[in-house]
Amino acid sequence: MKKLTLLGSTGSIGRQSLSVARQNGYEVLSLAAGKNIKLLEEQIREFRPKVAAVFDEAAAKELSLKVRDTSTKVLSGVDGVLEAAAVKESDIVLSAIVGIAGLLPTLTAIENKKTIALANKETLVTAGEIVKKKAKENNVSIIPVDSEHSAIFQSLNGTKKGQLKKIILTASGGPFFGKNKKELENMTAKEALRHPNWDMGAKITIDSATLMNKGLEVIEACHLFDVTPEKIEVVVHTESILHSAVELTDGAVIAQMGTPDMRLAIQYALTYPERKEAFSRLDLTAVGKLSFYKPDTDTFGCLPLCIEAFNKGGIYPAAVNGANEESVRLFLNGKIGFLDIERLNRMAMENAENKDNVTIDDILLADKAAREFVRQNA
Ligand code: NDP
Repeated sequence: MKKLTLLGSTGSIGRQSLSVARQNGYEVLSLAAGKNIKLLEEQIREFRPKVAAVFDEAAAKELSLKVRDTSTKVLSGVDGVLEAAAVKESDIVLSAIVGIAGLLPTLTAIENKKTIALANKETLVTAGEIVKKKAKENNVSIIPVDSEHSAIFQSLNGTKKGQLKKIILTASGGPFFGKNKKELENMTAKEALRHPNWDMGAKITIDSATLMNKGLEVIEACHLFDVTPEKIEVVVHTESILHSAVELTDGAVIAQMGTPDMRLAIQYALTYPERKEAFSRLDLTAVGKLSFYKPDTDTFGCLPLCIEAFNKGGIYPAAVNGANEESVRLFLNGKIGFLDIERLNRMAMENAENKDNVTIDDILLADKAAREFVRQNA
């Protein structure tokens, strides 16, 4: 029986991961969340983990009183989340905290030699080289949970190194596919949160609307599959059935398809290399047709911005990611307009100063500076 640690258990990925754990009878040893203690308490009562960490100190205090009749130890703050990530007996850590807040817990899990099922793309976006080096030193596998990267990972199964010609990374296009800048000007958070195919957390849903999510995913794919952005073609595929593909040297294109159901990718990451019963099955005749388009990178500039940040290297991906986390937060709170997200992200990246031999501290500082810059220029 698998023993699981779940970081970000109250989120969209976290909740779906628990349904995968429930269906497969996994033991859940450790949970971590930000502040939603109502849901965390329910999860504690169902899964009886050894530890549960809450980032928010006051919420952690309240939770520890609520669950004092259970044997679960409640931890708090960043240190509590890191302790939850390191729980000795678990063999796989599902990293699903949102944003750069997931970086240190994921690194801690790697240092404790846990297999990583990675949903938190910001970990590889901000600190890809360092994370990969640490994973290698600790002989740790990083298995993607993101549906596109899971599709690429699955499509590459059985191919030899050197046979990959290019990666075809699909994008749903988000709720604003086909719109021009003028039409985007007054889009509200409510409209941007209406994703046509996927039910996800608020931050990634806004990232899908700006195509920032696809930019972050290009960087994630570069790190996971050791390629550069020139080897990645982003293709808008509005039905979200073909989750991504690889083209091989002989022209063969191998794709992975399935329903737009994150539990499939989560389960694959947790059971790899085994395969378990499906949660939902694809009916191709019911889908009818699949469509593919080139992305409109003039209107949705966050995609090329991320590629630029990756090519500049150093702290730039962390700066653009930190700026985006802040601008999305401001947009969700109605403080800035939809197009301001891209504008502020670009300005923050241009304002960032690079460093040689980047460390985790440099990355965290670049993240902080970019957030501050966005707040001051919003
Ligand atoms: P949600 O916003 O739904 O959930 C985020 C989770 O992180 C919550 O459990 C939240 O706790 C927790 N959290 C936030 N801050 C902290 C912190 N400082 N310490 C500990 N826990 C924290 O996000 P999603 O589930 O949508 O996304 C999670 C990650 O997975 C993101 O990186 C996203 O890009 C990636 N991803 C998501 C997909 C999806 O379908 N949702 C698809 C592919 C990738 P609380 O609720 O208590 O605040």
